[in-house]
Amino acid sequence: MLSTMMAIKIDANNHGRISELGQRVLNGGQVVRDEALSLFNLENTADIFDLLSWANRIREKFKGNKIHLCSIVNAKAGACSENCSFCAQSSFYQTGSPKYGFVDPEPVSEAADEANKNSVTAVGLVAAWKGLNEGPMLDEVCDRIRELKAGGKTRPDASLGIIKKQEVANRLKDAGLECYGHNLESSRRFFPQTCSTHTFDDRLETIGYLKKAGLKICSGGIIGMGETREDRCDLAFELKAIGANVVPINILNPIPGTPFEKNPPLPVMEILKTIACFRFILPRQEIMIAGGRTVNLRDAQSMIFMAGASALMVGNYLTTLNQSVEKDLQMLKDLGLDPSWDNHGFSDQEETGYGCGKENCETEAVMA
Ligand code: SF4
Repeated sequence: MLSTMMAIKIDANNHGRISELGQRVLNGGQVVRDEALSLFNLENTADIFDLLSWANRIREKFKGNKIHLCSIVNAKAGACSENCSFCAQSSFYQTGSPKYGFVDPEPVSEAADEANKNSVTAVGLVAAWKGLNEGPMLDEVCDRIRELKAGGKTRPDASLGIIKKQEVANRLKDAGLECYGHNLESSRRFFPQTCSTHTFDDRLETIGYLKKAGLKICSGGIIGMGETREDRCDLAFELKAIGANVVPINILNPIPGTPFEKNPPLPVMEILKTIACFRFILPRQEIMIAGGRTVNLRDAQSMIFMAGASALMVGNYLTTLNQSVEKDLQMLKDLGLDPSWDNHGFSDQEETGYGCGKENCETEAVMA
């Protein structure tokens, strides 16, 4: 056994394994599922700090000291036909969250001004509905995207649910959309416990249309819903397989009135370890810490960067509050991290899917 500065013992075998995998990823190699799962299963606080130090090195190597900031506008709120168990906006649950129709141009342009003032790269239009079809609503959505693009202040992003036709994805791309947010939420195995009104395959199919249209993909999930570490590990490999460009990690903020309202919070070290494991599996992706950050991490929020995060959702979330953007910017400054993003674009990263390492990977088949 080795000792650390904290006088907590670290396991020499774990230390050797973490270092070997960390060095491999730094050298451009990859970890396979069983190796990654052994990292997810680390228990000892000293071993987890060891893991974080490697995740930090991997982040520095592939992402430098730039931190990509994103914000969102709730472009259509509440009364959603879907039953996602974590969501305040589902019509299945009594949560008291606001309800309104599709947003007018003014709030979107105000959000772009605010984002620009705070070095925020992108503003995403997020709509609470099942998905988007051809018709007058698609015309209106495309108008908002065109206006955002023409304003030139931020990158126009959107998260508009399930898409069932290639033409819809093409229209969004033609309007100037660059990146579409569509989370896988969790592993294929756990997904049915989060939602029964649409399927994991509906989500993969949507991502297939988006990629074919040439859009960048922002896709991640939520941790703390009752899933296992294996589910988190499999989610990370699915995201790798679909070639997600940005990977948001949300931490469940249990909403009263939803089926997950009584879920116990994840321990802070479990959250940080999960972020670090994602960085080992997805060394070049933007790993963004999104909803539930403030309430779950409290004073440990700045540790997310040491755990490998390279992006941050700032401003308020769809139905819950975040800490102020000023406080986030101060946190980055104190850590010597740079939020500026020159062209509102994407940094270099591998664009292709990688496969998850399993034989006959279904995700690869869907995306092919
Ligand atoms: S997560 Fe999205 S699709 Fe699911 S209920 Fe909420 S708004 Fe609807």
